[in-house]
Amino acid sequence: MTARIIDGKAIAAELRHKVAAEATRLNAAHGVVPGLAVVLVGASPASEVYVRSKSKAVAETGMRPFDHKLPETASEAELLTLIGRLNADPAVSGILVQLPLPPQIDAHKVIAALDPDKDVDGFHPLNAGRLARGLPGLVPCTPFGCIILAKTVHASLAGMDAVVVGRSNIVGKPVAQLLLVEDATVTIAHSKTRDLAAVCRRADLLVAAVGRPEFVRADWIKPGATVIDVGINRIAGKDGKPRIVGDVAADAAAIAGALTPVPGGVGPMTIACLMLNTLRAACLQRSLPPPDIGC
Ligand code: NDP
Repeated sequence: MTARIIDGKAIAAELRHKVAAEATRLNAAHGVVPGLAVVLVGASPASEVYVRSKSKAVAETGMRPFDHKLPETASEAELLTLIGRLNADPAVSGILVQLPLPPQIDAHKVIAALDPDKDVDGFHPLNAGRLARGLPGLVPCTPFGCIILAKTVHASLAGMDAVVVGRSNIVGKPVAQLLLVEDATVTIAHSKTRDLAAVCRRADLLVAAVGRPEFVRADWIKPGATVIDVGINRIAGKDGKPRIVGDVAADAAAIAGALTPVPGGVGPMTIACLMLNTLRAACLQRSLPPPDIGC
């Protein structure tokens, strides 16, 4: 058997297209153009690439990008002042602070200072709490993308045995909570889990968010299972050139029923979900119904 490859690139493009159509409708009906402010502190080349691609995606979906760059030496007070200004600006629907932040700035304090209704990353404690309680709110983009991908294979995740490997606040925990909202039976595994291979083998739906190249072996996968590989790991290829691999071994495709590729699986969904969250945030702030995107 060869797994069906879940084409995250195409699914993300379709989602962005729907977001653009809904953004046009919002503008026509209510004169609202959603805006996303991306805040970058310092000048890491990788972060600059991310920020540029986010701003490009915002413009392509008919929304307004606002880029803010602070120097590497910026103080916490300076960043908090900027956040306060963006919170108060009605043209800004969503605020994303690019992480990691330099050591003089407490990221928890900065995230807590965001207006929760503009927290398009879904990291604010109020949004994390809402998710934990199964209440509506802005949810983290990568986990949201994982659920959308899983639901392209299974119309309903109800009753499925889902195993999430990883328990970070950014990926593992919110994925597990979203799976609970979908009525899956959820196990969260981590570095202290005993007999991880056996735990993974129980999964109808396996989400790998470990950050270790090809860590999940093919023989850990239940035949026919759906595998969502969140990992983005840079390794040296055979030709010495860097190459990106996931957290799941490539030969898992011979065992799984459906599998997200790396690259081209979860990665593109993160930005598409960021666009959707910006649109959702713009509606939320005006007490308008959420956009009709079907997810
Ligand atoms: P973290 O490093 O924050 O978390 C990794 C998790 O994996 C931890 O919970 C850790 O357990 C667990 N883990 C580590 N080693 C083992 C092990 N030997 N056995 C079992 N569990 C283990 O990573 P993130 O959650 O931020 O990211 C995970 C991956 O997803 C990375 O490759 C990252 O690049 C990628 N990523 C991709 C995104 C995308 O857009 N596609 C977005 C965000 C992340 P413990 O808690 O016990 O230490």
